[in-house]
Amino acid sequence: MAYALKMLISGKQGAGKGTQAAKLADHYGVAHVSTGDMFRAAVKAQTPLGQTAKGFMDRGELVPDDVVIGVVVEFLTNHGDDGFILDGFPRTAAQAEALEEAVGEDGLDLLLDLDVPTDIVVARIAGRRVCSECGATYHVDSPPNVQWVCDVCGGAVVQRDDDTEDAVATRLQAYQEQTKPLLDFYAERDLLVQIDGDGDVDEVFARAVAAIDGARAGS
Ligand code: AMP
Repeated sequence: MAYALKMLISGKQGAGKGTQAAKLADHYGVAHVSTGDMFRAAVKAQTPLGQTAKGFMDRGELVPDDVVIGVVVEFLTNHGDDGFILDGFPRTAAQAEALEEAVGEDGLDLLLDLDVPTDIVVARIAGRRVCSECGATYHVDSPPNVQWVCDVCGGAVVQRDDDTEDAVATRLQAYQEQTKPLLDFYAERDLLVQIDGDGDVDEVFARAVAAIDGARAGS
């Protein structure tokens, strides 16, 4: 049996990371681990983790490194060997270093970066709607069959609290300043694979699979 895929997916907010990570996790039979989804679930359940994260998230700021690293390292310790697609982590240099320490220098197959121009992600985020129950994603231009009831689970489809104009501007700034420089960190380790993330979901998915299979065959 092929060894389990262990990869990261990155890109600006609204680049399609969550959508592609879910499809890719299904395709390769590994876990989709989204730190944003973990925090949203914790906020909804009003756990101590959720109470810590909520203020940062609503303002579009990053949750402090020690909090995020603790959550991800716990997951990797328990389930990392079964393979994973980490979505939304790492977002800072400290997180990238903690990840390397947790999985070892040869512990990742690749970082797949979805390259999408800023004006396109801003338009995508402005129209984005999500199911408040299961997290399924919609857009005002492709709503659920019954407005605004989730096709998957029947939950209410709403706008995310952090998809407001101010929070989006803060998140894009955090991406430019803290997350984009990580591409160099992974390029130096020969793990960076970039694809054009503009296009419809199936087109980008086909590009992603070709890039991942190519990177694994070459490693
Ligand atoms: P996302 O769904 O990936 O856009 O994440 C939503 C929000 O969760 C972010 O704007 C941050 O407030 C928080 N968050 C998610 N992942 C991280 C991370 N790796 N580091 C810090 N904050 C994070």
